[in-house]
Order: sequence, then structure tokens, then C-alpha cells
Amino acid sequence: MQIVRSGSLLVLMVLVCAFAATAQDSSSAAQPALSPKAAPSSAAAQTAPAPTTPAPSTDPQPPAAATLNEVIDRVVQREHLFMAQMRHMHPMIETYLQDLKDDKDGNTTPVKDQYFLGRLDMADGPEDVSFVGQPGFGHRMVAKLTGVYSLHFLPMGFAQMVVVDSDFQKKSYNFTFVRREFLGEVRCLVIDVQPKEGDRVSRFMGRIWVEDQDYNIVRFNGSYYPQPRINFFFHFDSWRLNMRPGTWLPAYVYTEESNLKTGLTKTLHFKAQTRLWGYDLKSLGKNEEFTQILIDSPQSVNDQSPTAADATPVVAERMWEQQAEENAVDRLQKIGLLAPPGEVDKILATVVNNLLVTNNIDLQGDLHCRILLTQPLESFTIGHTIVMSRGLLDVLPDEASLAMVLAHELSHIVLGHRLDTKLAFNDKMFFPDEESFQRMDFKRNPAEEAAADTKALELLKNSPYKDKLGNAGLFLKALQEKAPELQHLIRPHLGNSFADKKNVRMAGLLASAPALDEKRVDQIAALPLGGRIKVDPWTDQAELSKAKPVALTSAREKMEFEITPFFPYLTRLSANGTEKVALTTGSPSQTQQK
Ligand SMILES: [Zn+2]
Repeated sequence: MQIVRSGSLLVLMVLVCAFAATAQDSSSAAQPALSPKAAPSSAAAQTAPAPTTPAPSTDPQPPAAATLNEVIDRVVQREHLFMAQMRHMHPMIETYLQDLKDDKDGNTTPVKDQYFLGRLDMADGPEDVSFVGQPGFGHRMVAKLTGVYSLHFLPMGFAQMVVVDSDFQKKSYNFTFVRREFLGEVRCLVIDVQPKEGDRVSRFMGRIWVEDQDYNIVRFNGSYYPQPRINFFFHFDSWRLNMRPGTWLPAYVYTEESNLKTGLTKTLHFKAQTRLWGYDLKSLGKNEEFTQILIDSPQSVNDQSPTAADATPVVAERMWEQQAEENAVDRLQKIGLLAPPGEVDKILATVVNNLLVTNNIDLQGDLHCRILLTQPLESFTIGHTIVMSRGLLDVLPDEASLAMVLAHELSHIVLGHRLDTKLAFNDKMFFPDEESFQRMDFKRNPAEEAAADTKALELLKNSPYKDKLGNAGLFLKALQEKAPELQHLIRPHLGNSFADKKNVRMAGLLASAPALDEKRVDQIAALPLGGRIKVDPWTDQAELSKAKPVALTSAREKMEFEITPFFPYLTRLSANGTEKVALTTGSPSQTQQK
């Protein structure tokens, strides 16, 4: 992909105020959610994958291919193996797209957005099953797009961009060796690939990065040519991660078009991020072993009461609600929408605990926090489980803003707002995955929303975050300002909307916030998308990105709520079973530390 704005590639990106510790002035039991050593980076540190200092590889070298010709033979062989593997994989695939416009200062800003979520099914070529249903349309990606995109999209949408060529053959292309280069700690051969002339079928043209042990393609960047007459192939930068020993699977695709003519007067200008996860079929719970079914049986119905007596009516009601909660949480995790319990949950739980302790609230029963793996900004509660989306966690500028979101959800629990207990009946869980958003609904009514806002303000005023709420208000202001352009980003799928043109959640905080100033480099109201949480596409485990913050050089680099390219720090799993996950967002400094 030709990246026009090379400036934005080479430098990036920071946020100074990443969830700073805030607990000094309050109850001693309250603690900062993030200790300095676990400080998250707030934004993806994107740098060109420059030929940085090579990291020594610790793996033994198998016999290397001696000539470009041999390399290509092995690449072609691995690519066919890859296609065969992908036919059995059904990962989740999510694309978020922002339509851009240049303003008078030459800066680009999002003016409209689009969102797609589905499960990839490549049994008959790249295709997907949609979760965000748009009635009246068929299954294929192209059918799910509206407006200008339906005219100009790839026949198979963004799903196509995980595949170089569904029948990759040496005879169809000319190959030119460019250089060796490290992507993260993985040494790669960089090869330019051009379809041979006279071929009427559209084929990949661009550059491939091939890791030099097994000759898997780990990154490819370009487009498909010739362009068809009706549709357009976009430019893309597609990354694969080493998810199992010897297996590299698609994880990220960045797409950008800055000046694609789609008619006499129309040009297409957009950026899009595609993410894939949920590869581990076992976690989908489709064909689990019998033993696992036994382990999974609901704990809450076992005899756990100290007196071994029948439950009292109050206890029975609590158990019933807990069963509904467990059913819903289990299901969301098995579909691949909810991350399994992990370290990020604990950080959220620390913030929730700070709120509880400083308000002297003793909740009966456990309280859990979990991460929804999707991009749209949303949070909701399922019984005593607070759920926050990855996208929301990514854009929150600091711990006080995080506390604001959690205080609202905690208030629903403290106020005893009910979970619809129909989900306690197990037959209610028998529905196709793609209907999840229709069948599972955790929306609150307006009265409950207003009550939770009021209660949340009260909780925050007693909390260690009370002096930092200006930042939280600033985040809300920025969100409200962007709401008309980013409707799909703020459209919730399971809970309540965070903001619309008129209203914003927790509006009581707006008054105390400073005025938004887009030109100030030191005023960070929100972060770019995708900088804080990284997801292991195999296990769905969420963790904090370890990339270090970078000082911003101009206000343009704030990129609040915006899409940026991917530069994952690639690592290789060794065959002897290091279950390390190859996922860090890379930066040159990390490369050198290795
Ligand atoms: Zn709410």
C-alpha cells in the first residue's frame, strides 16, 4: 500500500496521562489500578518497520532455501497449506471504517463510519456470517454495506484481504527479492510480487514478507490487479501472527484509500482496521469433550450452603439471577465476544474496589469485570458482572475516565437494577451465534440510566478520583462532539448508548470539564483506537499493550477516536512449547531491548 502521509508513519504517539495513579488523597484502602511498571501505553506506537537492529534468533536454523527460486517454491507450498488450514478456521472478523475529509488546514478528520462484525468462513472462499444484522441483505460482506460502499467494495469485502491469492501459483507471478528485514524479532525476506501480464484474473500485486525459517508469509501489502470494472480493490497491509508453532494466521489488516476515483466527481477517502480473533475452536464450545461439559456444569446449583438446607426465597432468587448471569457470560465467551478472565479484568476490579471502599459499600456476593472484544464503545452489566468493550478501554484517556464508566455500571448493581432472568432457562441459550445481539440484550430503561448517572456522580465524589473528574468530563465532551460523525463507533450492540447528538451519559461531569481545544497538544480528551488493549487472536485473552508512550510532536497526532495503521511486534513461537503470544505492538526501542 502506498502510504501518502508518510509523516504519520514515522513518528508517533502518546499520551502522557495514561491511567496515572490517583489514590494519595483518599482512603488508604484505595489503590491505583495501574502501578508504574504496568503502565499501559496509551497509543499504538506506530513506526515504519524500518530495518531496525536485528534481534538474535534463539531458534535453531533449519536448512535454508538457497535461491530465490527455492524460497518461492516453499512460500507457495506454505501458502497452500495456509489456505487448507483457514478452511477449518472460523475466527471472528471485525472491520471498523472511517470515511475521511480534508479540512482547510489539510488535516483529515472522520466524517462518517461503518462497522462490520462476523465470523469468517473460508470453506468456499473468504466469506463471513454477519453478527450485526442488516435485514434484507444476504450473507456476503458486500451485501452488508450501505451507500457508497456497497457500490465500491470488494466482492468479498475485507475478508478477502487475509488471503494473498486463493490459488497462489509460481507461474502467475514475477518475484523480485528486495532485502532482508526484521519485523519485531522475526527475520524476513522481503519480496516484490507482480502478476504476469496478460492474466485476466485479478491477482495480488505488492510486497510480501516471508519469515526465513518455514517460509510462511507473515505480512503482505498491496492490492489486487487488474481492477475490475464495477468494484474496486482497496490497498491493504495484512499481518499474520504466529499463533501455534509453525502456524501463522491473519490477525490485522489496515486499509487506506486517499484518493480513489469512483465516478466523475466522487472520490473515496477512508481508513479501516480489520481484526481477527477467536481462532481456537475449542473455546467456541462446539465439540467439547464430555469431561469439559462436566467441568462446566453450573457451580451455583451445587450444594454450597453451610446448612445444607433448601434455599430461602431470597437466596433462591439470588441463585436464579446468578444462573442467568453465568449462562449469558459463558455464552458470550464461547462465541468469542467476551475475553476469558484475565489481567485487564483485575485492573478494572481494582478501580471498582476503590469506588466501593471509599463509599463504604459492601455488596453481597462477588462482583466481576470482563472485556467485550469488540470495537464499539459500550459498557453494561450482566447481573454482578460489569462488561466493558475493548474499544472503550482503548480510547479512555486516564484512570478517572475509566472510573467514570465503571461508576455508572457499578451504580446499576448497587441500585439493584435487575437482569432479565429469562436467560436462566437454558433453552433460551439455543440460538445461532450470529443472533447473539438480538437474543441477548442488557439495555436499561431511561429511568434506570438516569438513576445510575446520579448514583455514579455520588460514588465518584467520595472516591480517589474526585479531583480528576475534569478529564472524564473532557472525554465526554469529545465523545459528544464526535457522536454525529462516528455513529457506528458509539452504537452499542448489547447495552445502552453512551452518547448521541443531544445526550451523553454522566452529563453532570460536563460542567466541570475545561473547554475542548483541539489545537492544544497537551490536552488529551481521548486516545486513538487500538492503542491500549491487545487481544491474543488464538485464546481471546486480553492484555495491556506494553508499547511505551511517545511524545506527541503536534496536535494532529492526537487522533482522538481515529484509526491508525497496525505495526505489531512479531515474535515466533518455539516448537518446544513456549506459550508466549506474539502480539505486542512494536516499537524500535523494544526491538533493541531484545
Ligand atoms: Zn447504564
